[in-house]
Amino acid sequence: MGLTIGVLALQGDFQEHALTLSQIGVASREVRNPKDLIGIDGLILPGGESTTMAMLLESSGLFLEITRALKDGLFVFGTCAGMILLAREVLDGRSDQGGFAVMDISVRRNGFGRQIRSFEADLAVKGIEGPPIRAVFIRAPVVEKVAKEVEILAEVSYRFDDDSKRVIPVVCGQDRLLACSFHPELTSDSRLHQLFISKILSEK
Ligand code: GLN
Repeated sequence: MGLTIGVLALQGDFQEHALTLSQIGVASREVRNPKDLIGIDGLILPGGESTTMAMLLESSGLFLEITRALKDGLFVFGTCAGMILLAREVLDGRSDQGGFAVMDISVRRNGFGRQIRSFEADLAVKGIEGPPIRAVFIRAPVVEKVAKEVEILAEVSYRFDDDSKRVIPVVCGQDRLLACSFHPELTSDSRLHQLFISKILSEK
């Protein structure tokens, strides 16, 4: 289909994203320097460690260039740490943790409590047909607030350490942005990547 998707390759799960894209026949390019952004049709910000990625974004010069590309309407899909990088507000972040602050959500880093390391859930995602999506959460952010401009595409019902049960948005969309708090690149299900690609193609 002729698209090239950049995958931010400073740290984290970038190889798995590239593999998932190749499985659906989409070309990808590792993005490490500003010049790697030239000509891409969309960008994936992978899971990993948002604080580390934020530092490397600054030192590589990518932070400014991606900020500019976002202003120009680049399609961006942020997963886990990538969602944190997109969020307007980051709770429990490092005080010096920078991000793009373009999606009108508030996220709490590592917000799922003591079961923080990992859990899985089956999700119905708006816009995705067929069986539920198996979602793998690893030290995932909790979306605490969502502005009305943001569309919630999937939610999970979760029991926290204090025994309270809450329904938490886990896939969000806003204009050309898509974000999820889990790791769609770690399963063999490529339908979320496909959703991102469809979003891009629908405006081409
Ligand atoms: N806890 C990580 C962070 O704050 C995100 C975890 C992940 O991407 N799996 O950046």
